[in-house]
Amino acid sequence: MMEEKILLVDDEEGIRKVLGISLRDRGYEVFTAGNGEEALRVFRRENPAIVLTDIKMPGMDGIEVLRQIKAESPETEVIMITGHGDMDLAIQSIKNDAADFITKPINDDALDIALGRAKEKIFFKKQIREHTENLEKLVEEKTRALMEAERLAAVGQTVAGLAHAIKNITSGLTGGAFVLEKGLELDNRTYLLQGWRMIKENIDRIKDMALELLNYARERELERRPCDPNRILREIHELMLPRAEACGVTLELDTEEDLPRVLLDPEEIHRCLLNLVTNAIEACEGKGASPEPLRVVLRSRRNGAGGVSFEIIDNGCGMDEETREKVFRRFFSTKGSRGTGLGLMITKKIVDAHGGRIELQSEEKKGTRFIIRLPGEGGESGEEAGNP
Ligand code: ADP
Ligand code: MG
Repeated sequence: MMEEKILLVDDEEGIRKVLGISLRDRGYEVFTAGNGEEALRVFRRENPAIVLTDIKMPGMDGIEVLRQIKAESPETEVIMITGHGDMDLAIQSIKNDAADFITKPINDDALDIALGRAKEKIFFKKQIREHTENLEKLVEEKTRALMEAERLAAVGQTVAGLAHAIKNITSGLTGGAFVLEKGLELDNRTYLLQGWRMIKENIDRIKDMALELLNYARERELERRPCDPNRILREIHELMLPRAEACGVTLELDTEEDLPRVLLDPEEIHRCLLNLVTNAIEACEGKGASPEPLRVVLRSRRNGAGGVSFEIIDNGCGMDEETREKVFRRFFSTKGSRGTGLGLMITKKIVDAHGGRIELQSEEKKGTRFIIRLPGEGGESGEEAGNP
């Protein structure tokens, strides 16, 4: 076994000799120093586990040696040698984290006890350090395993949602095929048309789902450029007018004029607004008989310094509390076989990527308002100004 290094510091040569011999007898590899400065030099060179130092020395005293060694190497145990009645110095030593102190003249038993305690401390500190390192490693491993499990769970959810959507479309297609076959069998034109329409609807659903999934999977970098927000809103209005009319919904455009140009990715924001307006029209459809005329408003307003807000407001079916909480989750849909539950999730992702915010107000049977707030250049998406 390797000998433990010990550094003995005393200005009296006699003590260094006698104590040195008795330490060697105990199996230590002993280094000696006659003053504080030399002690620090030897200490730095040999890095002993234990230092035994006299307190009272000319020049740098033992307390200072203790302080410096503890500052450089808190692990090292320092035993102080005091004269009789040096209570103040003893207290100072303890305050500076000395391992122990023994009094002169040095008695063998007292030395053994002090050395034994110092070695015990060293042993326990080492144990604690190893234990802590093991713990850290364990935490790291467990964290990694947990993250992997969560990732797998997310993949599982995605696949399950997909399977569900595909199953719905498949039953739509099967239904359509059945009606179509009946039409052929009975030579019935009404059945033929009805079956054909069902099949076409489901083809559209497959197309929509594939597009949304592609968009969801793709991590496209935003291509931002200064854009006129009203222009995008007008495009959406025009695009959705026929669909709204077919459902008996009035589509109103309410733009604030002279809006600042905003740095955004027009294709992506277009996609967001299209999702919101589609949902709004579907919400009107889903309301059933309504005493008041159904309408969807597409609104633009200034938002803070240089920013803009878009609002899509409908007086359709609205949402209950549970729905409000879940709308931004992927695959959350209340539309059964007609929904993919991806629209709002994608919308939020795009708005977030723009440094913006999406807000939602909704009340069951009354209607819904979605607000997209986009910041101006370098700005936050605040609501300081421009929102009546
Ligand atoms: P999908 O439209 O395919 O169902 P979305 O992510 O676009 O998926 O919307 C998720 C759900 O949020 C919808 O199924 C519906 O329940 C609710 N929702 C979204 N917009 C509205 C709205 N304007 N009015 C009422 N409910 C809405
Ligand atoms: Mg939708």
